[in-house]
Amino acid sequence: MDKQTEEIMADDTIHAVKVVMSCTHPRTDICDMWSQLDKYGLGPGVYPKEHAPRPPFHPFCRCVLHSKRLIKTDKARENPASERQYLARVMREEGASKAAQIIGGRAKLAAALTNAPIDSIVNINRPAPYRLGRGG
Ligand SMILES: [Zn+2]
Repeated sequence: MDKQTEEIMADDTIHAVKVVMSCTHPRTDICDMWSQLDKYGLGPGVYPKEHAPRPPFHPFCRCVLHSKRLIKTDKARENPASERQYLARVMREEGASKAAQIIGGRAKLAAALTNAPIDSIVNINRPAPYRLGRGG
């Protein structure tokens, strides 16, 4: 995964990447959020490559970054509240336990619904290999 990410980072013709979940993904978790979040107005799961969350997101995660050569990022606008809005929508539509399952527990959900930085919330109690990193 690191090797593939390095190749994408080194390729100047790629500006955007998409987090793609494996079709064998067994349960709802943080991968759902990263693959559905439209944080930059580029589409669900699409990020400027340097800001993309970097898989694996948990043990046995099979998410991958797909390069999106046709998507330019010069008009990308970060929505810093996008994770909070995503989790609030999941709570409304599927319930608080589903939202907690995505972010990793009720305490993390409560923190994520404030203005706390999402990366540090995600990383609470995470073993080092699965701490959230960004593409760049
Ligand atoms: Zn995954």
